[in-house]
Amino acid sequence: MSDSRPSLLERVGEAAVVQIYADGFAALPLRDKALTWHLYLAALAGRDIYYDQRYRHSLEMRAVLEAILIHDEDVDTRVLDEIRRYAKLFWINTGPYNNLTARKFLLGVTRDELAAAATAAARHGAAFPQRSGESLETLIDRLAPMFFDASFDAVVTSKSPGPGQDILQASANNLYVDVTMADLEAYRERHGLNSRLVNRDGELIEEVYRAGGRYDREISRIVSHLEDAVAFATPSMAEALRALIRYYRSGDDADRVAYDIAWVRDQDSAVDTVNGFVEVYLDARGVKGAWEALVYYVNADKTRAIQALAAHAAWFEARMPWDPRFRKTAVSGVTAKAIDVVVETGDAGPVTAIGVNLPNDQAVREAYGSKSITLSNVNDAYERSAPDAMRTEFCWDAAEAERARRWGAFSQELTTEMHEVIGHGSGRMADGITGAPQQYLKECFSAMEESRADLVALYFLPDPELVTLGLVAAPDHEEIVRTEYEYFTRNALLQLRRVRHGTQLEEDHMRNRHLIVSWLMAHTPAIERRQRGGKTYFVLADPQAFREGVGRLLADVQRIKGDGDYAAATRLLDTYGVHFDPALRDEIVARADALDLPSYTGFVMPRLEARYGDDGTIVDVEISYPCDLETQMLEYSAVSACFPAASPLTTRPTR
Ligand SMILES: [Zn+2]
Repeated sequence: MSDSRPSLLERVGEAAVVQIYADGFAALPLRDKALTWHLYLAALAGRDIYYDQRYRHSLEMRAVLEAILIHDEDVDTRVLDEIRRYAKLFWINTGPYNNLTARKFLLGVTRDELAAAATAAARHGAAFPQRSGESLETLIDRLAPMFFDASFDAVVTSKSPGPGQDILQASANNLYVDVTMADLEAYRERHGLNSRLVNRDGELIEEVYRAGGRYDREISRIVSHLEDAVAFATPSMAEALRALIRYYRSGDDADRVAYDIAWVRDQDSAVDTVNGFVEVYLDARGVKGAWEALVYYVNADKTRAIQALAAHAAWFEARMPWDPRFRKTAVSGVTAKAIDVVVETGDAGPVTAIGVNLPNDQAVREAYGSKSITLSNVNDAYERSAPDAMRTEFCWDAAEAERARRWGAFSQELTTEMHEVIGHGSGRMADGITGAPQQYLKECFSAMEESRADLVALYFLPDPELVTLGLVAAPDHEEIVRTEYEYFTRNALLQLRRVRHGTQLEEDHMRNRHLIVSWLMAHTPAIERRQRGGKTYFVLADPQAFREGVGRLLADVQRIKGDGDYAAATRLLDTYGVHFDPALRDEIVARADALDLPSYTGFVMPRLEARYGDDGTIVDVEISYPCDLETQMLEYSAVSACFPAASPLTTRPTR
C-alpha cells in the first residue's frame, strides 16, 4: 500500500522510532478480531515481566521517569527534555541497557536535578515507588547508581567478560542471583526456561515463573485473557491456548513440551500468538527464556511464496552440504507464513526481529516440525523508514548501489524466509547426543545457531531450485544473489556503527554475521577489502567463491552443533565472531553519524480498542496508529504497571 502516512516518527540518539501498520486487520472476521483483542490484552499483561528479567531495578526506574513525565508542569525544561530523551531510550530498550551492545546508557542530568524534578512532580500528585518510610530523596539516592554510574552493573549480558571472569557474575540481568557457572556444574535444573536461579546460603533455589510463583501477578492476568481468547479460537488453536494456560499454571516442563507440540500442530488459524518464555539471548548461558508476546494474523498474499519453501523442506534437507549423519531423514510439519504483527511486547518489542522460527526445543522440532513466520509489515516499515544512504554509503560503486535499491528489500526478505524455514528448521543432533544443543554449546549456542541458519540461506540462494519453485525469476536470479551477497558483506561494516564502545560484539546475530564475513575473508577470495578517499569498503569480488566458502563453513558449523563441540565453537567464535578492529569501527561510526544513520529501530505498535454492544459482547475491534512512542508506552504502563506512578491515559492529553 503506497500512502503518505508517517513511518519514521522521530530519532532519539542512535535509535529510529517507526510506526508499524497492520492494514489487513480491519478486514478480518469479527470472531478473529475478538480473538486478537484478547490476545492483545494478554500481550500487554506480561510486559513488565521482561522489564524485571532484564534488570531488577528497571520497573522502579521506569516508574520514576513516567511519574515525572506525566506530572511535568513545574519541571525545568532542560531537565525535562533530557529525562524524556532517556525515557524514550529506556522504553525502546526495555530498561537502561542498549539492546545491541548490552551496555548501560546514562541519564544526563545530575542527581539533584532528578530529585528536584521528582519533587516538582510529587507536588502535582505524582506517586513514586517508595519503600515504606522512604523519602523521595532517599529513593533517588537508592536509584542513583542505576541512572548515573556506568560502571555499576555495566553490562546486561556478558558472554565474553575476559579471562577468569564468570559470565553470570559479569551479567547484570535478573535471571540469576549470586550464582556462578561453577555452581551449576553438578546442578540439574527442573525449570530451565522458566525460572530464576537463586543462591540462598549455598543452596540453589529455582524460583519458577508460574501462577502462584514468581511473576504470579502478571501471569495470572495473562491466563485470564487467554481464557477469554479460547472462546474465539479455532479448535486446534483453542487446544494450544489451553495447553499454554496449563503450562503457565504448573510451570512444569512437561506442560511446556505439550504446549509446544499443540502450538506447532495448529497450522491453519488466521490469527496466532506467541506468549511465554521463549528466546534465550538474554541469558549469557543460553538457557533462561525471556518473556515475550507477539500477536499477528496471516498475510495471505505474501504467504503463498514462502509456503513453497516449507513444502519443499525435505528437498533442501537432502542437499545440505554437511555430513549425512546430521541429516533429518523425515522432514515433516515445517510450515511457513508471512504475517502482519498487531502487537509485540517484552523481548519481542519495541525492538523486533523480522523473522521467527519456533519452538526452540530441538526435540520437538525434530519430531513435530516448526512454524516459521516472517514479519511482513515490520519489513515494510523498515523499508519505508530507511534513508537511502543506509543502502548506498558502503557500496563500492554506482552499480552496487543501484542493485541495492532495486533488489535489496526483495533479496533480504527472501533470505530471511530461507533463514527461518530451511535454516533453523534443518539438521539433527548426532546419534548418542542426548539433551539440547544449548547444554553443550552454552554461551556459544545462539551465535552458532544463527550462523547456521544464515549460512543455509546464503548457500541455497543461488540454487536453480528457487526458480523452479517460482520464488525468483530466472533472468533476475544472478543479480538477486549478487545483491544479497553484497548486502551481507557490507553489513559486516555497517553493523559496527551500533557498537560505539569496546572492541567486541555481544549480540548473537551480530556475532554470527561478523563470523561469516571474517571467515570468508580469511579463507576465500570472495571478499576484498578496499580503500578509497580514506573510506574502507568490503567488496564482493567472487560470488562463486562466496558460495563455496559458505558451504564449507556451514558443514563445520553443523558438525559443531550436531556433536555439541563446545571447544570448537569457542575457537571459531573467538577467532572470527567476537573481536573487531576499533579503528575501523571509529571510521564507520563517523561515516554513519555524518549521514545521520540510525543504529537500530524501536517500533510503535498499532493500538486496538474493543467496542461492546448492550449485551456486553464485542461488536467490533478498531485498530488505530498512535504515531507517538511516549503516548503508547504510558498507555501500556497504565494497563500493566505494578507501581502506582502511571495514571490512566484518559486523564492525559495527547501530545
Ligand atoms: Zn534466526
